[in-house]
Amino acid sequence: MNTELLLENLRNIPDFPKPGIQFKDVSTLFKNPACIREMLDELLRLYADKGITKVVGIESRGFVMGAMLAEKLGAGFVMARKPGKLPADTRQATYKKEYGTDSIEIHTDAITPDDVVLIHDDLLATGGSMLAVYNLVQEFGPKQTYVNFLIELKMEGLEGRKFLGEKLDITTLLTLEE
Ligand code: AMP
Repeated sequence: MNTELLLENLRNIPDFPKPGIQFKDVSTLFKNPACIREMLDELLRLYADKGITKVVGIESRGFVMGAMLAEKLGAGFVMARKPGKLPADTRQATYKKEYGTDSIEIHTDAITPDDVVLIHDDLLATGGSMLAVYNLVQEFGPKQTYVNFLIELKMEGLEGRKFLGEKLDITTLLTLEE
């Protein structure tokens, strides 16, 4: 994988959405066709032989590469969305955020016990949102569940990998230490 190309094209926005946060803006990767191809090729290398039948993308930046990858894998794509957005029956998980709580939903008919699932999001920070989606996906009883992020933040106070635990099968394309 051409890590340099991806690092050169990832935009950092200091103090967004609040002071002290270094926001990794993946829109500058998504707008560049060479970066899309690079990420997609690497994701295919990682997952083409895993028998994945459903890719679950986490709203909203997880939808972009998640849906493209699903098509390449010949898998279906499932949206994990903020509350109140999905129109049919849903299963819901609530999780703690830095301040207060948040929830995430998946349609009840979106995943079956026959599925092999890959959950995808753009970025791993604390791991809170991914753990909630992972636990929610387990309620559907899939054969196996894989987890992928485009970017892993490894900074002081962020222990996302540890938080998610060693039992999860996680890959990340880029690891950032600042
Ligand atoms: P977390 O649940 O703490 O792992 O946060 C992950 C979610 O929040 C992902 O969906 C990211 O899109 C978003 N996020 C958290 N921190 C950042 C950051 N520094 N830059 C960009 N996105 C972030």
